[in-house]
Amino acid sequence: MARLHLFDLDGTLLHGSTAPLEISRQLGREAENIAIERAISEGRIGPPEYATQVHALWTDLTEAHVTAAFDGAPWLSGIEDVWTEIRRNGDYCAVVSLSPSFFVERLLSWGAHAAHGSRFPAVPFVEPLDLAGILNAAAKVRIADRLCAEFGVSRADCVAYGDSGSDKDLFGIVPVSVAVNADRHLRGLATHSYTGQDLRAAYQLVAGTR
Ligand SMILES: [Mg+2]
Repeated sequence: MARLHLFDLDGTLLHGSTAPLEISRQLGREAENIAIERAISEGRIGPPEYATQVHALWTDLTEAHVTAAFDGAPWLSGIEDVWTEIRRNGDYCAVVSLSPSFFVERLLSWGAHAAHGSRFPAVPFVEPLDLAGILNAAAKVRIADRLCAEFGVSRADCVAYGDSGSDKDLFGIVPVSVAVNADRHLRGLATHSYTGQDLRAAYQLVAGTR
């Protein structure tokens, strides 16, 4: 049976940063975004408020800013190598993130079979933000189930990689999980833990687990 590897983006594939922070940096709005990040990480706001506030910061956002943010972001090394290896084994890899889909979907070009994020309007923003498209931790589980059906695997065939609270629900339903540069709480819920900046080493922890 094939396996499905589910990767979080912010703090997991991105080391010590998030897609919104990288986007806001391009617009000179990093300090404001850091305050919003703090609010969500402390639980003072949830994903809908977070999306509303970053959307408001990004009124001048263009595709060129998104490209610069993506290209300049602090990615772990070896992401494409790991996804090539996963594909070679006949397994599947997907990115499921609460970050904007217009950023997350760029990872399809690196070899992910699927990439899902919160649905934001097309860049530059003309349409309003529709909160119905904003994901939360529970949505990650729903998307994982949908991907399982799509790829013909079950929850028992999944491996999840994550770093924080939004990965908790997902870690609870898969048999193998890797806490990547994670907080202590998530490390306690994971079957494996990795600290460092090379996804190949994180993948090696679970590559031989079946
Ligand atoms: Mg994360």
